[in-house]
Amino acid sequence: MESIQDKEWHSKEAQSVVKAFHSDTTMGLSVKEAASRIEQFGHNELTLKKGQGPIIRLLNQFRQALVVILLIAVVITVVLKEYADAAVIFAVVVVNAVIGFLQESKALKAIEALAKSMTSDATVVRDGEKQRLPSSQLVPGDIVILQSGDKVPADIRLITVKELQVDESALTGESVPVQKGPAALEVNATVGDRYNMAYSSTLITYGNGSGIVVNTGDRTEIGRINRLLSDVDILETPLTRKIHHFSKLLLYAILCMAGFTFVIGLLRGQTVVEMFMASVALAVGAIPEGLPAAITITLAIGVSRMAKRNAIIRKLPAVETLGSVMVVCSDKTGTLTQNQMTVQEIVSGGSHYSVSGVGYAPQGNINPSQGGNGDVLANQALREIFAAGLLCNDSKLVETDVGWKVQGDPTEGALITAAMKAGYHPSDLEKEMPRIDMIPFESERQYMATLHDQGKDLPRVIYVKGSIESICVDCSTTLDPDGQPDITDPGVISDWIDSMTGKGLRVLAFGRRLVATETSKITHADIDEGLEFLGLQGMIDPPRPEAVKAIAACQAAGIRVKMITGDHAGTAAAIARQMGLCGESCSYHTREVLTGKEIGGLNDDKLVETANATAVFARVSPEQKLRLVEALQKRDYVVAMTGDGVNDAPALRQADIGVAMGLAGTEVSKESADMVLTDDNFATIEAAVEEGRGVFDNLIKFITWTLPTNGGEGLVILLAVLLGTRLPILPLQILWINMTTALLLGLMLAFEPKEAGIMKRPPREPTTPILTQTLITRILLVSLLLVIGAFGLFKLELMLQGNNEALARTVAVNIFVFGEMLYLFNCRSITHPFWKLGVWSNKLLWVGVSIMAALQMLYTYSPPMNRVFQSAPLGLMEWSFIFLNSSVIFIIVEIEKKIRRRSVA
Ligand code: ADP
Ligand code: MG
Repeated sequence: MESIQDKEWHSKEAQSVVKAFHSDTTMGLSVKEAASRIEQFGHNELTLKKGQGPIIRLLNQFRQALVVILLIAVVITVVLKEYADAAVIFAVVVVNAVIGFLQESKALKAIEALAKSMTSDATVVRDGEKQRLPSSQLVPGDIVILQSGDKVPADIRLITVKELQVDESALTGESVPVQKGPAALEVNATVGDRYNMAYSSTLITYGNGSGIVVNTGDRTEIGRINRLLSDVDILETPLTRKIHHFSKLLLYAILCMAGFTFVIGLLRGQTVVEMFMASVALAVGAIPEGLPAAITITLAIGVSRMAKRNAIIRKLPAVETLGSVMVVCSDKTGTLTQNQMTVQEIVSGGSHYSVSGVGYAPQGNINPSQGGNGDVLANQALREIFAAGLLCNDSKLVETDVGWKVQGDPTEGALITAAMKAGYHPSDLEKEMPRIDMIPFESERQYMATLHDQGKDLPRVIYVKGSIESICVDCSTTLDPDGQPDITDPGVISDWIDSMTGKGLRVLAFGRRLVATETSKITHADIDEGLEFLGLQGMIDPPRPEAVKAIAACQAAGIRVKMITGDHAGTAAAIARQMGLCGESCSYHTREVLTGKEIGGLNDDKLVETANATAVFARVSPEQKLRLVEALQKRDYVVAMTGDGVNDAPALRQADIGVAMGLAGTEVSKESADMVLTDDNFATIEAAVEEGRGVFDNLIKFITWTLPTNGGEGLVILLAVLLGTRLPILPLQILWINMTTALLLGLMLAFEPKEAGIMKRPPREPTTPILTQTLITRILLVSLLLVIGAFGLFKLELMLQGNNEALARTVAVNIFVFGEMLYLFNCRSITHPFWKLGVWSNKLLWVGVSIMAALQMLYTYSPPMNRVFQSAPLGLMEWSFIFLNSSVIFIIVEIEKKIRRRSVA
């Protein structure tokens, strides 16, 4: 088998390729052979090339502004022959870089693990059986069925093709889909010209086909160029970019201040060395170096919290944006409802039937509603509607240990169950009337059609099933109970439709057309006219109870929920009423329900107006979804939109949060989404929004906590230089404070649980700045309190303790550390008193606080630390001052919160 690798398969005939791989077009490989080939060729997986290697990322840590300043400080201290200082500063630089690197690696790993958990499936023929397998299981020689919406799982030589179009932008960068065909090509055709090949990771946007796997894993074209996952900017979000920008401005401001300090000090007659140390201290103190790491960590924690609640984040910015979602546009089928379809009513041949039984188990009866005779199958039209339901169908029912299950589309599964209840056997009928050709279901056209042979000399028959609109208008005649064509009475049909959709039933219409025996292809034109109407089947699809609750939760949180569905307006309105999406009176005659046709008649401006007031959009095409997102965004709404089909990709990309379905969604839709729901459940969107709000809260809390330290330290140094006094804290001591508190105190805010009532407040306006007036005031207030405490007590201690600088500075350092420690508890909530959150609800916070306190004891009392940091043991009086000052800060902030709460209320 070695010899079959890397041949120019595009230049060979499909059948000879199949032979070369010892495979079989209809039987595929045997399960045994596949297992042995996986031994030989390995799993069909790409070894992910890392965007940046660990060494580069470690070196990147040294590019931060703070580090640059510190490195300059190291050089100058060496020049000044202050070797001890130089060594310590250098050690801090290294420790800082390593910690930053470790944190970043952890965050990256968490996100990568999620990316990997997003596996895709492929349809493969093994031992003659079609089955869905994880793509990683594919081996060379496998026969693969490709369908619109799939991601091509490996490099494949196409064997059969039906209007197959592939988006190869992942490979060639060309985003216009390419038409494919099976014919052999010249040897020297380039990858972009190989129309008979489907390459791994490209996307099927239209049609279907089959082919044989020729290369897997890293031997595929995409594996060779390996640019699949560029995780270069995986850790970037709008917020981190904003912070980055802010830090840069801050850096320049701080450098100016440091320069200013330097000059002022010199003018006041201080030495160059002293002023240099002061400038470094100022810079080191004022730069919030913990900020970028804290943001990354908080976002990464958000990602894993969301994953635990079934929402997989594919793009990191989504974590942040989720918190400010204002409108959620959700699919109906499967997301709001259970996608558990059961046919309950049938109208055919002029009679109405009810169907008993629950679920997909083929147990139940078909009963005529108006009494009528027992043998329902005497109705020829009813026989035909069952046949159409079975044959115009790509799904399968299987009996498992836990009952009957659908493989494929639940809508189709329900049709099989209904036919089996009437006594049909799918496989028997398929043998009797083999399928010759088909038109697959596409959301745009809303129908599926198949062509069947009925035996020699008999006409062939086209069966069509689809939405009422796509079929009924095309039918000129109805089939009567004797199997004879009758004239369709549109009034009667529409009464039935109203009655069924009004109950929330999903109604499918059926039609057929007899064609000449030699017909072997069907086109859309064959369906457009001359169809005989066979009747309707109405199925229930119960709402998900948890989605009903989630809708109410969203509404309480100021988030509007809108239903967007391809289903009939009547059905959509009925389900929307049951789910609390619109009032009891809402129906498709009221303003709350808009159909795709009506949307088509509105210009963009008008749509902006209407889209806002409408709760339910029915019979919407994917392009209209895109228009709706755009219309809502014109109102400055942050919009989340769900989608599962191939053509939903543009709408998903346009939405602020594109949401794809993990179970029922196509690979194409997942590829364009920001978030994937592993359970397809609307309630998961609500959960993700809740987590998103929590993440944003925690980011704000960290920022509110960290900035006063920087402000306070900067101001203390500035003040000292302006007043011409000694520095209350030295650069090294500032480094100590910043490094330890950011890690042991600040970071713990990332683990804060969500506050109660987080879903009771309106969404955050995207235009509100991160630092609101409230926060700026608080940050200034705390900075000031820290400065007064540190500076005042430094001075006081110098006076009281006979100019003992080491001791006075140790007091100042402890003022900062313990002040920050108590202020940390304030920051657990921006508005509420911290004890309201549950004193122990964030255990890690207590761990951090305890370690920090212990470290501070070492700092104050252990001789080696005393030597390195020029600290000194403190007495009881000093500690009383320190705790008094910290408590005063704590109490003042709590009072300030209270006053604000009052003025809001
Ligand atoms: P939705 O699932 O929200 O109803 P779709 O675009 O998937 O939206 O389907 C639109 C309509 O097409 C459905 O309401 C139904 O009438 C019809 N339909 C759905 N699935 C199939 C199918 N497999 N074959 C034929 N018609 C279908
Ligand atoms: Mg659907």
